[in-house]
Amino acid sequence: MRRPFLAGNWKMNRTVPEAVALAEAVAAAVNGYAAADVVVCPPFVALPAVAAALNGTSISVGGQNMHWEETGAFTGEVSGPMLRAAGATYVIIGHSERRLHFGETDETVARKLQSALACGLRAIVCVGETLEQHQAGDTFAVVGTQVKAILDAVNADQARGITLAYEPVWAIGTGQTATPEQAEEVHAHIRTLIAETHGRQVADEVRIQYGGSVKPGNVKDLMACANIDGALVGGASLKAEDFAQVVTFAERGDP
Ligand code: PEP
Repeated sequence: MRRPFLAGNWKMNRTVPEAVALAEAVAAAVNGYAAADVVVCPPFVALPAVAAALNGTSISVGGQNMHWEETGAFTGEVSGPMLRAAGATYVIIGHSERRLHFGETDETVARKLQSALACGLRAIVCVGETLEQHQAGDTFAVVGTQVKAILDAVNADQARGITLAYEPVWAIGTGQTATPEQAEEVHAHIRTLIAETHGRQVADEVRIQYGGSVKPGNVKDLMACANIDGALVGGASLKAEDFAQVVTFAERGDP
């Protein structure tokens, strides 16, 4: 079955020394933990140092964004090959903060995904509806359009290697988590869309993370859902102890 996959998105937090200290604390707590895949995504400037600090551990490193071109006149941007060379093996694509604040569209997300796969990065591709869309009852339509744009950008072989992250925008950084039932309903819908596009076998393999105020106290209930395979964690990933508790959710008796 699908192996739990927990990813920490540090966003625009931590200087290089602070990021190294956080990485070392995460490694001290979960290095070698065999029951889940773990990745941390520091800011670009800290990526080489964090990758060096985690070298030889079971924890992988990812970028939080990338450009679709490999090189060129794109001031301020970072490419997939640059991420690889800096020690990243993963990259987050299409995070809602990128879509909301930096003009990312389904088209740019698809281009970035194709570029990431071409240079050997493993992609965590984010989808999710805003509060307004949620309240209007448009969740399935919005998420469906975003997911289709992602699935149409890849073939079946590529699809099985990507991770989708369902992150309702209204739950990110707000402390307001989707209930396990709400999240599971959308995850199941996403898996149906994968099956329709790339077949049941691929759909059964793709891991779908939930993101939105995941913390030690709610991760276990979310992970108990049939179609929730992991979490993309923002705030709680900035505290090594909290992130370690999220990673090792299966070891704890209480939800
Ligand atoms: C995120 O950064 O993707 C996220 C879900 O943040 P938080 O856990 O803080 O809601």
